[in-house]
Amino acid sequence: MPIFYDTHAHLDYPDYAGDFAEVIARAQAAGISKMISIGTSLDSSERAIRLAEKFPAIYAAVGWHPSDAMKAPSDLRPALRGMCKHPKVVAIGEIGLDYHKLPSGMHGGPSPGFATLSPSDGERDGVRGISSMPTSTEDARYKQKQADIFQQQLEVAAETGLNCVIHQRDAFDDTLAQLKPFAGKVRGVFHCFGENADRMRRVLEIGSLVSFTGIVTFKNGQNVRDTVAATPLDKFMLETDCPYLAPVPYRGKRCEPAYVKEISETVAQVKNCSLEELSAATCKTAREFFRKL
Ligand SMILES: [Zn+2]
Repeated sequence: MPIFYDTHAHLDYPDYAGDFAEVIARAQAAGISKMISIGTSLDSSERAIRLAEKFPAIYAAVGWHPSDAMKAPSDLRPALRGMCKHPKVVAIGEIGLDYHKLPSGMHGGPSPGFATLSPSDGERDGVRGISSMPTSTEDARYKQKQADIFQQQLEVAAETGLNCVIHQRDAFDDTLAQLKPFAGKVRGVFHCFGENADRMRRVLEIGSLVSFTGIVTFKNGQNVRDTVAATPLDKFMLETDCPYLAPVPYRGKRCEPAYVKEISETVAQVKNCSLEELSAATCKTAREFFRKL
């Protein structure tokens, strides 16, 4: 059976509290031999490390998600430096920029006050930090805080020799521009890649990579399949981003690492290669990128 890795999973989320051991057992039965639990805050990163200590197949990435930037402490570096020493911490992440829900977009919408937003399709979008400032000032403050914590985390990556799991939404140019000065020291994987082939090439140009989720199986995922087709076989990895983005035929349900199998089948079709070739290429890329894997 071809082996695959789930390089981006949120295994610390409460979604798995009821049947965690079964989720991991199903993954291993499906050939998903390694999983990386991605941190979204310091607490979430600690939880990912605890899971990695308990389960041999689980590894951890530690970092603070841009959507929760306003809740981040002023300096993330000391805590992250400590966590990076752990033998199963394989990357800094997920980090980056997310302009999808800015404070200005929150006003006058159906749910007034952005602290009350419910999770939407894809990632959590909780933008917090209410004030009576003009929205343009709030937007600027929110973007600045995202950039500040992104920068701090890139610095820790450079210091510790770890690569980064990058989250960006509606912020491609700014994210690439902030990562670029670190090229040669730090590589990023632009996770849940949904951009076109031209943008994929700009990511590869600075030595970074992309990874693809269950979106490749969606009926309306042709643009992502086109990007997969254009991406060299040794320049991408596979991931679920679970509990989000379950592939067909599980779309809309809770996603879990076992479903990398369905993702790999679609990607192999699009790349016109065998599952064995895809397994060898994506696992090698992942082991070179996440060196402690
Ligand atoms: Zn994620």
